Amino acid sequence: MKEKIQFDTICAKEVPDPRTTAPHILPIYATSAFAFDSIDQGIDIFTGKEKGHVYSRYGNPTIEAVAEKIGRLEAFGLDVDPGAILFSSGMSAISTLIMGLLKSGDTILSQGNLYGGTTELLTKIFQPLGIQTTMLDLRNLEAVEQQLKTDPSIRMLLFETPANPTLACVDMEALCGLAKKYGVYTFVDNTFSTPYLQQPFKYGVDFIVHSTTKFLNGHGNSIAGALVGRDKELMRTKIWTAMKLAGTNSSPWEAWLVHNGMKTLALRMDRHSENALGLARFLEAHNKVDRVNYPGLESHPDYVLGQKQMRASGGMLSFELAGGLEAGKNLMRKLKYCSLAPSLGEVDTLILHPASMSHLNIPKEIRLKNGITDGLIRVSVGLENITDIIGDIEQAM
Ligand SMILES: *Cc1c(COP(=O)(O)O)cnc(C)c1O
Repeated sequence: MKEKIQFDTICAKEVPDPRTTAPHILPIYATSAFAFDSIDQGIDIFTGKEKGHVYSRYGNPTIEAVAEKIGRLEAFGLDVDPGAILFSSGMSAISTLIMGLLKSGDTILSQGNLYGGTTELLTKIFQPLGIQTTMLDLRNLEAVEQQLKTDPSIRMLLFETPANPTLACVDMEALCGLAKKYGVYTFVDNTFSTPYLQQPFKYGVDFIVHSTTKFLNGHGNSIAGALVGRDKELMRTKIWTAMKLAGTNSSPWEAWLVHNGMKTLALRMDRHSENALGLARFLEAHNKVDRVNYPGLESHPDYVLGQKQMRASGGMLSFELAGGLEAGKNLMRKLKYCSLAPSLGEVDTLILHPASMSHLNIPKEIRLKNGITDGLIRVSVGLENITDIIGDIEQAM
């Protein structure tokens, strides 16, 4: 065939869309930019007159499809039509919300027992920029109301329930009631529960963040985050603008992996919860164990609240051996199947020592005040046969 254009031009040129029938599985749109049919269409899309894509930092079909699915799950069965955005990590979702919503002089009211990275973000990055954080025990509702009443600079109430790694819970309905009374945004990290086990929108929460790296993906092969906001317009304007300009967007590859993992979310969360309860009951009955933190155990201080807010208690627990730090280190040395890894929410069981790993950079007095003692061991209970998980930990004790 006689070609009209040159060999190297054929190499450089894109091929026409070869699609005949629609793919069954969401494709990965690996493209930086989107091409316009005409200059007029380009202008209409840029000015928002016509819906369309421009550049993958602003939005991309793969990323948006996955964000929308997470939004649907958070709003499932509720009278909420939220906006959802996918980010490069859980941390970038949290930082983008704060950047988009707050300004210097504003204060965040939160708890001492947050995810270690969140505490560091608030104190090391936002504090020097003039956004202060006050930390309280958010289970003390009187103290929370007193703080809201006396400090008008508070613009946001940020919490985690259950929280890392003691699985302490806070009362979302009560906190949202107070926040509404004082005109304050509420923001919850729902990473541990996923919308299958807990839907914070039910209790009036404004913003929900996920490290999708954990249970939503569930297979430990991508880093990404999601933010779901009750006010779709606010998500579409202020928050999307902050994402676009700070460049905290997700990538289509990571989004695709999150989506692939989410297909089995309900099945996995049931099994994670069932296995964790089995392990918690075994540990609680063991004479070498001093304390077990699992909200599904009647002995947990937040058992009643956990039962109210969650469908099941999830895959995370922590415990303290009678021998403290040395006994804990010994146990971790002897494990055969459980992995020592600083993540959670994966298919296999992961064990971590918070004092020397996830909470290493948190001052010791804050750590101890929140029950993160030197001998505490955190377990992300996996999907293995429960007999093998218990067997491995039993032989290591
Ligand atoms: C892991 C985690 C984060 C941070 O998410 P990344 O995806 O690692 O940035 C935030 N909150 C909780 C509860 C987490 O477990």
